[in-house]
Amino acid sequence: MKLTIELVPQTSWYSNVRSNVTQKEWDVLRRDSYKKAGHKCEICSGVGPKHPVECHEIWEYDDEALTQTLTGLISLCPNCHQVKHIGLARIKGNYPKALKHLAEVNGITEEEAEKYVEECFEIWQERSEKKYTIDITILDK
Ligand SMILES: [Zn+2]
Repeated sequence: MKLTIELVPQTSWYSNVRSNVTQKEWDVLRRDSYKKAGHKCEICSGVGPKHPVECHEIWEYDDEALTQTLTGLISLCPNCHQVKHIGLARIKGNYPKALKHLAEVNGITEEEAEKYVEECFEIWQERSEKKYTIDITILDK
């Protein structure tokens, strides 16, 4: 699938990159990411109406070792970014729009997209019962 959902476990919600670097460092990181992406979404090539792209943190989970490792930053249009955090879209009332975008970008039906969403929430629920150690050493490079 081109556009995937990446739900951050509830236990890690407040330990993201932004909470581990200064505002200035974060600005450098995200602007660098936007520039590399040519200010276009790296998944669907789209741009947002207010601002073209947003910076998304890509995490890899080791469910045995309980580590959550940052593997990179990616520039996404607001629509794709909303799909990545579809739980938040649900809370904000943007779920139908996010689901539609998820289906469109991946060339699947909304029913198939919904099934995929449910699978992601099951994994999220399991991960949210554990506490992961955050690893952002990639940013030292
Ligand atoms: Zn996009």
